[in-house]
Amino acid sequence: MKKGQQHICGEPRWWRGNLHTHTFWSDGKAFPDEAAALYKAHGYHFLGLSDHNVFQDDPARWIQETRRERYFADYLAAFPGAEVRIGADGVREARLSTFSELAERFDEPGRFLLMPTIEATRSVQFPDGRRHEVHMNYTNIPKLLPSLCVPDFKRVADDVPISEFISRHAEEVGAVARSTGAARHLFIVNHPIWQWYDVAPEDIAESSAIRYFEVCNNGTEIPSCPDLPQDGFDADRFWDVVNAFRARRGLPLLFGTGSDDTHCYRGESHGGMLMPFNAWILVRSPSLDAESIIGAMETGDFFACEGLEPEDVSFEPSSGTLSVSVAARPGVAQAIRFIVSKKDFSEVPVRTMRVRPPTETDNPCHERTIRVYDDRIGMVAKSVHGGVGQAVRASYTLAPDDLYVRARIEAPGQPLCTANMHPRCLAAWTQPYSA
Ligand SMILES: [Zn+2]
Ligand SMILES: [Zn+2]
Repeated sequence: MKKGQQHICGEPRWWRGNLHTHTFWSDGKAFPDEAAALYKAHGYHFLGLSDHNVFQDDPARWIQETRRERYFADYLAAFPGAEVRIGADGVREARLSTFSELAERFDEPGRFLLMPTIEATRSVQFPDGRRHEVHMNYTNIPKLLPSLCVPDFKRVADDVPISEFISRHAEEVGAVARSTGAARHLFIVNHPIWQWYDVAPEDIAESSAIRYFEVCNNGTEIPSCPDLPQDGFDADRFWDVVNAFRARRGLPLLFGTGSDDTHCYRGESHGGMLMPFNAWILVRSPSLDAESIIGAMETGDFFACEGLEPEDVSFEPSSGTLSVSVAARPGVAQAIRFIVSKKDFSEVPVRTMRVRPPTETDNPCHERTIRVYDDRIGMVAKSVHGGVGQAVRASYTLAPDDLYVRARIEAPGQPLCTANMHPRCLAAWTQPYSA
């Protein structure tokens, strides 16, 4: 059986993974072998090395040691068989391992799986000079999208609305997946509230081709504004706006993932942000292979996690009851909050504002529009608090006027993801469910 096609079947169980990681193939600060070894040693079961606009398939990609002396020393100490040479300009170089070499080295049936992943990193240039970054992950398709293979692909100098721009990518990923025979794939809208972005929930609310977004990305600064609502504009609110609109229209609900977006492995830059092991997903499937993992995610049987890992979740469609349980954690008091949106919410914003990022800049492209809706979107319908060191079990049954329900598990304490003021505590998220 080929590596990457493991089938260790059995009872469904939880598998831990991170699908958003960078290496020296793009702007990450580690060799890909180091990243894979680190996550595997830390108990992760699957990993996507999602370098920007590149799939790791070039066997002749060398990087120079200049300004990377420390990284080279660590790498060669840990991987003494690594290929090094003296380049044409007299500088030492190391060859980057390809995806297939990495899979051969690290994949292990029932233990660890590398999943081909790319972060399509685009910049949309509008005629009025505004420019917006749009980042989208796709997984289990081992090749670049055609739109990433043309010269000057990164900038799109037209006025395609962001909503259409993302939908086009989702459709392109689907078409490429079919052409490669990939049975299942993922397409994830990354860190939509990053300050350099301008993806609004309304941009992805109507596109049923977009099934996933990052509710928790480790290291994306949100825009700030003194006029923001008291509870801020965060990824939870973004999620509920999308799903309130979708549920009303009968469209599939958007699922949320968590990721490290790892760039630094030693805390050496980005203010110590974008480090490993802060946000991940926990997927329940009978086996550790891409088809099974993605198949489980398609049914919503996974959590996004930031420091907490719940024990179980179930939804009974006939009664509309969502049940969640979390195991006891010594010294920690955990709570389960059930969040709903109501059928009578208004699609007319209560207010609309232009928001600038916290960083001082003269570039108008960094402004964004935030629409604040009434509080019937994203209401906390029920909270159940456990005592210190206690397990918590709770359930919620959809009321006749609920569009959907999801649960967020919380525990006080220093959040692992500190850059974006979200989620401000240790947390984990179920997916949304509707009857
Ligand atoms: Zn990104
Ligand atoms: Zn990234």
